[in-house]
Amino acid sequence: MKELQRLVEGRVRVAGDAGFEDATRPFNKRYADIRPTAVLSVRHAADVARAITWARERNMPVVARGGGHSYAGYSVGAGLVLDLRGLGSVRVDPVSGLVAVGGGTRNGAIYQALQRHDLAIPLGNSDEVGIGGLVLGGGVSAVSRAYGLTADALVETEIVLADGTALVCNATDNADLFWACRGGGGGHFGVNTSFTFRTRTPVPSSTCLLLWPWRQAAQVLAVLQKIMAQAPDQFAARIGASRAGDDPGVVSIIGQHLGPAAELRELLAPALDVARPARADIADRGYWGAKDYMYHETSGEPFAVRTRCTPKPLSDSGIQAIVDAVERWPGSTNPDGAGVALFAWGGAINRVPVADSAFPHRDTLFLVSMDTSWLPSDPAHTVWSNLEWLDGLHEEMGNYATEAAYVNFTDPALTDWQSAYYGPNYPRLAQIKKRYDPDGFFQPPQAIRPLGKEIRA
Ligand SMILES: Cc1cc2nc3c(=O)[nH]c(=O)nc-3n(C[C@H](O)[C@H](O)[C@H](O)COP(=O)(O)OP(=O)(O)OC[C@H]3O[C@@H](n4cnc5c(N)ncnc54)[C@H](O)[C@@H]3O)c2cc1C
Repeated sequence: MKELQRLVEGRVRVAGDAGFEDATRPFNKRYADIRPTAVLSVRHAADVARAITWARERNMPVVARGGGHSYAGYSVGAGLVLDLRGLGSVRVDPVSGLVAVGGGTRNGAIYQALQRHDLAIPLGNSDEVGIGGLVLGGGVSAVSRAYGLTADALVETEIVLADGTALVCNATDNADLFWACRGGGGGHFGVNTSFTFRTRTPVPSSTCLLLWPWRQAAQVLAVLQKIMAQAPDQFAARIGASRAGDDPGVVSIIGQHLGPAAELRELLAPALDVARPARADIADRGYWGAKDYMYHETSGEPFAVRTRCTPKPLSDSGIQAIVDAVERWPGSTNPDGAGVALFAWGGAINRVPVADSAFPHRDTLFLVSMDTSWLPSDPAHTVWSNLEWLDGLHEEMGNYATEAAYVNFTDPALTDWQSAYYGPNYPRLAQIKKRYDPDGFFQPPQAIRPLGKEIRA
């Protein structure tokens, strides 16, 4: 590693060095025992190029680490990790309305800079998520039904390829790679060192958080689905059916409306009529207040997530399957518990043709996200029964929702992930991989393979 250290300005660390853990730790502690050979905390894009060339000559796998929030721990691997936190600059140009960010910038830093200029792009609901993983896989936020995906706002990205060359990709230069960087997922084509986005002017918003007791789960879920199916693009929400510890369960909706609370109250009236919530908070907030309200806190203790998509509301039996599954949850000691979330997609996301970017889910009404969690101190049989519960639920929901899955809610248990993540766009991704990384140097798990070198699961 001394040799690499001589070539770069960033710091190279191996296991045991101060800061090694911090630079490699995956958010999901399920993968906490993966130990890379070394980590380079890069100083600038030239470090990225030098490290890739160095590692390639030694046949050492390289993986980029942005925010480290991959659900499946894909930003730690057995080889060399490139910790991109040093690429954390944010430059807002209020005249052009563009914001340029380094490839390892976290959402929180981007939000902060944008708020100073009162400009917005669709970002997610956590300050710690990295822009790299988020935008490369699509990026869905509480304003995406109105503003589109994070990837839909991308106008340019710089990327270092497997041979160490740096390319600028946009609608005219290397347009095929630009296409792949909007939904193809992180880690397949190179290491993106910067991203430039088109911003828009945010509008005052309102938010809702409503909770209902479990006994009303089926009726409430049905009406919430209907509300979201008919809602204007300005309103997006996450409908939840979940349990933790010994609680019987709770049904929830949390959402942001790009309009006044009075409108939001009207939109939610059918749900308030069907059953009285245990908690109801519907309030006007500024755009930035709403963004803070939508933050999603999870501990990062071990968890697993599987997804499906549906273009229409789930049938009554689909809802009943969710209710029954939540009641059957085997339990664990993680306070995050388990459940099913229906994320309302559609709107502006669905107005982009499937072939315009690598992100294929342009007909989805709900992302059906099924999750469970446990603690490292839980016994092995608890972990096993939680994963068995999740697999059973995922399989059962195949009766009601499609096989499509969101690449950013990475699911290492998926077998036919090529079609689930990418649908009809997979063959083009394989073609682009062949052009820019013909030897398949970048090989994350569930790697897009160069055309002609596919290994089907
Ligand atoms: C708490 C939490 C909240 C979330 N909220 C949202 C949300 O609101 N909306 C949403 O759509 N998703 C959300 N996600 C999912 C999130 O989009 C993905 O987990 C995403 O991949 C995380 O990106 P990262 O850079 O933090 O992760 P990392 O683990 O660092 O990277 C994920 C993958 O991308 C690659 N990668 C990262 N940066 C680069 C780069 N610059 N160049 C090339 N490859 C790169 C990595 O190698 C890895 O394969 C959330 C996840 C968590 C844990």
